[in-house]
Amino acid sequence: MNNLSDLQQLLSVPKDIVITTHRNPDGDAIGSTLALSHYLRTHGHTTHMMAPSEYPDFLEWMPGAEEFLIHDIEPEECDRLIQRADMIFCLDFNSLERIDKMGEAIAATDSTRVMIDHHLYPDEFCDFMMSDISASSTCEMVFDFIGMMQDKDRIDKTIAEAMLTGILTDTGSFKYATSPKLFRIVAELTEAGADDYKLQDLIFNALSEKSLRLLGHCLANRMEILPEYKTGIIWLTKEDYEDFDIKRGETEGIVNYLLKMKGIKVAAFIHEQPKITKMSLRSKGDFSVQEIASKHFRGGGHKNASGGASFIGLGNTIRKFKNLLPEYAEQLAEL
Ligand code: 5GP
Ligand code: MN
Repeated sequence: MNNLSDLQQLLSVPKDIVITTHRNPDGDAIGSTLALSHYLRTHGHTTHMMAPSEYPDFLEWMPGAEEFLIHDIEPEECDRLIQRADMIFCLDFNSLERIDKMGEAIAATDSTRVMIDHHLYPDEFCDFMMSDISASSTCEMVFDFIGMMQDKDRIDKTIAEAMLTGILTDTGSFKYATSPKLFRIVAELTEAGADDYKLQDLIFNALSEKSLRLLGHCLANRMEILPEYKTGIIWLTKEDYEDFDIKRGETEGIVNYLLKMKGIKVAAFIHEQPKITKMSLRSKGDFSVQEIASKHFRGGGHKNASGGASFIGLGNTIRKFKNLLPEYAEQLAEL
């Protein structure tokens, strides 16, 4: 963090603070926002949490989640709070474009902005920037932030569980992006009262019958394997969304099943939304799906986990993705 002492000075008196996170918020987005909010409130700050769109049902149990304001649902109230805030924290995203209209509202204010984020290639739109692409999650960085503020003793069970939630979801239960430092942090979070067994169950054993059947449908009927490119694709049509009554967040994690197959190093989950076709990309090892997402699908993210979108429909998007693979054939062969 640049000029930490200036930030400490600013936070030494109670402020009106908005904490924002990205569209389609995941466990790390919601967990980091809640953890920071709970922590800042221990210092008497007033905090408002907001995201552009709703969070998935499996995060509903989190204490404080019900306070989230959703810009898609209450744009005026969100914009009003953004306008009058002294400070705006931006968590788990690094470009105002990632938060659509909420980003426009933030760009129009002259409040102090703080970024805490672990994605590649941050935009410079904040006064204080904590950007660490080696961090497993934004939750890990919120832990670092609280440590920098000399306030680790304020981490109670609620704050610890919010942070551990984002760490568990962004690392896929400690399967990727781990480090000795992360495991030490997790030890401290469990010492602070976080119940890791309970969290694993709440987060990863929360599928509805419908979602489990949808997974079966994807694996049986909507999967294509391209062994020559070590790539797997799963797609879902608009009709699938209707037939299975799929809601936001209910397709989370499906893309990872492709990587369970021996020899598969790149996975794509491509699905039709009302206006756009969205995609989730995952890879193993040195192959960067961030490059594919940012170059060809107006997206970005991390080297091994990125997302993007297109406006050319499902069939064309799948074809476009497949047509890109020969370009990477040599790189893929080495994996
Ligand atoms: P997911 O596939 O789980 O939606 O996202 C994987 C990663 O890519 C996350 O870190 C997410 O923030 C990022 N990501 C997903 N969609 C987009 C997008 O449209 N643009 C950018 N820049 N990043 C995205
Ligand atoms: Mn994250």
